[in-house]
Amino acid sequence: EQLPQVAIGGPKITAPNVPAVFVPVNRPPGVQEARMKLPVLAEEQAIMEAINENDVVVLAGETGSGKTTQLPQFLYEAGYARDGKMIGITEPRRVAAISMSRRVGFEMGLSSENVSYLIRYEGNVTEKTQIKFMTDGVLLKEIQSDFILSRYAVIILDEAHERSVYTDILLGLLSRIVPLRRRRGNRLKLIVMSATLRLEDFVQNEKLFRIPPPVINVESRQFPVTVHFNKYTREDYLKEAYLKACKIHTRLPPGGILIFVTGQQEVRALVRNLRKAFPYRRMEIGSEKEESNSVKLEESESEDDFPHKKNPKVKRSDEIHLPIIDLDEYPVVSSGDVDEDELVLSDDNRDMEEEIDDPKATRAPMWVLPLYSLLPGHKQAKVFEPPPPGSRLCVVATNVAETSLTIPSVRYVVDCGKEKRRRYDKTTGVSAFMVTWTSKASANQRAGRAGRTGPGHCYRLYSSAMFNDQFEEYSIPEMQRKPVDDLVLQMKAMGIHRVINFPFPSPPGQEQLQASERRLILLGALQRREGSSEDDWAARITSLGQSMATFPVAPRFAKMLALSHQQDLLAYTICMVAALAVPEVLIDTAGNKETAAFRRMWAGTGNSLLLGDPMVLMRAVGAAEHAGTTGGLASFCEKHALRLKAVVEVRKLRLQLTAEINSAIPDLDLVVDPQMPPPSDEQARLLRQLLLAGLGDQVARRVDPETIKDEEDKMKWKHAYRCGELEEPVRIHSTSVLRREYPEWVIYQEVYEVEGQRLFMRGVTAIEPEWLPSLAPALCHLSLPLPEYTPTYDSSTDSIQCHITGTYGRAAWNLPIVQI
Ligand code: ADP
Ligand code: MG
Repeated sequence: EQLPQVAIGGPKITAPNVPAVFVPVNRPPGVQEARMKLPVLAEEQAIMEAINENDVVVLAGETGSGKTTQLPQFLYEAGYARDGKMIGITEPRRVAAISMSRRVGFEMGLSSENVSYLIRYEGNVTEKTQIKFMTDGVLLKEIQSDFILSRYAVIILDEAHERSVYTDILLGLLSRIVPLRRRRGNRLKLIVMSATLRLEDFVQNEKLFRIPPPVINVESRQFPVTVHFNKYTREDYLKEAYLKACKIHTRLPPGGILIFVTGQQEVRALVRNLRKAFPYRRMEIGSEKEESNSVKLEESESEDDFPHKKNPKVKRSDEIHLPIIDLDEYPVVSSGDVDEDELVLSDDNRDMEEEIDDPKATRAPMWVLPLYSLLPGHKQAKVFEPPPPGSRLCVVATNVAETSLTIPSVRYVVDCGKEKRRRYDKTTGVSAFMVTWTSKASANQRAGRAGRTGPGHCYRLYSSAMFNDQFEEYSIPEMQRKPVDDLVLQMKAMGIHRVINFPFPSPPGQEQLQASERRLILLGALQRREGSSEDDWAARITSLGQSMATFPVAPRFAKMLALSHQQDLLAYTICMVAALAVPEVLIDTAGNKETAAFRRMWAGTGNSLLLGDPMVLMRAVGAAEHAGTTGGLASFCEKHALRLKAVVEVRKLRLQLTAEINSAIPDLDLVVDPQMPPPSDEQARLLRQLLLAGLGDQVARRVDPETIKDEEDKMKWKHAYRCGELEEPVRIHSTSVLRREYPEWVIYQEVYEVEGQRLFMRGVTAIEPEWLPSLAPALCHLSLPLPEYTPTYDSSTDSIQCHITGTYGRAAWNLPIVQI
């Protein structure tokens, strides 16, 4: 009998500790037989003993070995879901939470009342829930209201190797919650499940676990997979994938094909083309009507386009027209360039051509199925069913199929080598997706999918040189890519003051954490403790910071939202933040009078005009929204030089922000109003102040040419501004509606350089300098602190003034008298 491998230093598993209870489960017919084939089943006893004897256990095993579907069942049968306690399982991906809760419910013959899921805004959890699948973000929220997770007897952190930010934070928090529960005599078990990747980050990590937890490795049978590299790396990997799949299908023996591409649009395009090439028709019924397999997929905007990368003038077509090729024109790529990796056991390294042993199979239909995270549940489930007789299964997937979902009987993997990764925008904290090379570890995981049921082949659509030189070993944990400002604010809101000491599995840089803390102090979200020094990194969250933490955007925008809530301006601010977060909504049409006139009209007069570019954006988006309700969005955008994709993106973001804010603030019931009337003059003034509150560190002042002696310098500084620490003159960009207004004090969203010479401000709003002391206090130095002023009444302006002076920032700009 095979014994589980136990990590060196981990406690030894000794006497069998058979659970005292056994909760019977009534499985539907056939399920038990299928379970028995899974590698984890063979280890059930060892796994359960380890869990009974240790509070923390790490379970590592190849994808498809049965971890996710079986562990909850073991625990249930061993009595961990009794007395109103639950077994909780977290997943980084929503699709996995939903699909796995369904599967486990089915295998156990239990309904969704008992085996449930909860993801953001959606779920089927009931009072009777015993096994609860959820996204990691959901559990993190629960910890904020119930720190010791009193409703759970076990928490399973699944897919820990994916290293999502939330799973990483959960790991740190649970490493403290588990001992706390033990001291209270109310044990909580923690099981960390992972593919066999880089376990040392959480096992040999003294900050997390003083004694390394035992590691159980589930050995699973992995058949040899031969890896074939392409000789050349071609740009158009979709076409390459198509050609490769055609070749495999027409020339190689039976066995499923799994193709990895990067996103929903690509999946759908490839599925469509492969279906066209090898149509599946239901011949038995004698009908010419094609099976559902060939149904055209409905159009929808995908979550993960990144519009600013594309040329707005090019009409995007979802359909990628690939030629239906004559296969004989394409010689088989030699498989000579084989990787030395352990993955390759080259005893099965025959050339493709030798394997054409069944000429009849060459024109067989292909059963092509898509798989991506937003695919509806019932379509997702199709990949688990065997293909119709006489056809070959071909699944086109995103990296959902890499470790979260295992498709049976795959023999050939085609890997484009790329993936879509979340990239965080530094200014807005809003994330976008971009396509990059994946890591070596991921590529090997993908290859491994071909060896689940027998020897297989993996065709990489890139060269071995590319693999060796361009692929990083492992994907960098998300924690180290995300802007830390959001992270620090979230953690402080959870009551974790010393973020620097938090046991992160892979901590962000110390300097980054400190810089974030400094910025959050400037924004007023954090406050140094009384009498503490500059390098005390344990600032406390303020009440402003607390409300900021409820908004899912970068702290400066969160501050605007929090303050606007007090002023009943939330709907406008959401629209403004959404519009500012998407790049290039307004297309630059230098010299186009008509467009300029429209923009000028949107800008309005008085405070609206002074609100500047954000005002134009808000009106443009509002007007486009209005046009959209009558179906004329595209032509409206064309006419007004708005980037259609950006407008659609803003709309989505607006809906998303509105929904998230509604869920964060009870009884708010905010709706996105397509008819939103433009703000009144007074509201526009408040909006200017709100923008200053968030962008208080991005203030610029116009330089008065009279103060400059040198004639050359005079020209250089004509209409120019001085921005913070910048030496060079900065100008308002020509696309700004304020470019001819030359307001003396402005805030800007961004400074950027045009062709290596001139600096320009984008997203400009005029402000009144007397707002600075109250709205950007951390950057102002006043002659007297504000509470100590002596106000005087000025009858000519009917205002109260206080005669103090001050400076803003290190540039020592004089501030005028503060008006109250
Ligand atoms: P792991 O978590 O170790 O990667 P899983 O528990 O997800 O493994 O998968 C175990 C097995 O269950 C796999 O062979 C997979 O194909 C199968 N499986 C998972 N979901 C379904 C489903 N909805 N229908 C049929 N089989 C499934
Ligand atoms: Mg799994």
